[in-house]
Amino acid sequence: MGLWRLCPRCGGGYLTDTEVCPNCKSKDEADVLKLKGFFEETYIAGQTVRQDVLNNTGISSRNLDRYMTYSEFAGIKFGSPEEKIIKSKK
Ligand SMILES: [Zn+2]
Repeated sequence: MGLWRLCPRCGGGYLTDTEVCPNCKSKDEADVLKLKGFFEETYIAGQTVRQDVLNNTGISSRNLDRYMTYSEFAGIKFGSPEEKIIKSKK
């Protein structure tokens, strides 16, 4: 028997041991694929800021926070937005 949980994506209740409800599972998988693609092709360690990810992938801020707790993204380090502004002014 699974646990009764509230889906972090849509807020719906579901009885299972997966992270999101069955309705959101495929959306989550699509987001994570986009995120992996972004980190492989666009991401530059220490320079890419969190907002770049949101702009490029269309993933919501709340969902991104959840994905960033995944062990597969543990090595990702975002740059600080302030540094980015300084660099872009030059
Ligand atoms: Zn859901």
